[in-house]
Amino acid sequence: MISFHPTQLQLIEFVEGNCTPAMALVISAHTDMCPLCQKHINVIEARIAESAIESDVSECDFGNMLSEITLLPAADGFSIPREDQTIELDGRQFKLPRALRKYVNKTGNFSHLLGNLWQAPVDLGPMGKANFIYMQKNGRVPEHTHKGTELTLVIDGEFSDGISNYDTGDFILMDNTNVHAPYSEASEGCLVFSIVDAPLHFTSGVARLLNPFSHLFF
Ligand SMILES: [Zn+2]
Repeated sequence: MISFHPTQLQLIEFVEGNCTPAMALVISAHTDMCPLCQKHINVIEARIAESAIESDVSECDFGNMLSEITLLPAADGFSIPREDQTIELDGRQFKLPRALRKYVNKTGNFSHLLGNLWQAPVDLGPMGKANFIYMQKNGRVPEHTHKGTELTLVIDGEFSDGISNYDTGDFILMDNTNVHAPYSEASEGCLVFSIVDAPLHFTSGVARLLNPFSHLFF
């Protein structure tokens, strides 16, 4: 069950187009998986549309605008090829939320990192560094904090990080005030999609030796 959602303010900024492209992508993908946030967004959109109509009603030829919209050609025959809806690791298919499907062909192969972790880079252009990260059972990312922000969406499975337990669809925003060590004990493991805007910083014990390699996670 989804327990972690964007805040109301983050949803409003998303609807208004006032959040970063990375935040917009992760909120959009979360919303594909979360009926509750879909409902919130519908309410926010309706409220914004209402106040826009109220303030612009004298200047805006609403009837004309509507007829122009309805004259637009319908997009027929448009469908996403089946292979674009999933990514594969080790013979397992993971279904992606709609917002992430356009990045399937920008996703590199999974490579094996330390500690039962797999990582596939996603080329988002200037939006930030994104990866699909798969934690096999008992897979563990060493304890770290963040020099910037880390946005994570749980695509499939469950994981914990010493702060909370997360399930499929959960939306997680971490920054330099959070120290955590994600791991999965689920037999099916856990696939997440993650965007960071600066390298991780490993904080504990031997993992600190990883800091020169933190670009591996970036
Ligand atoms: Zn939600």
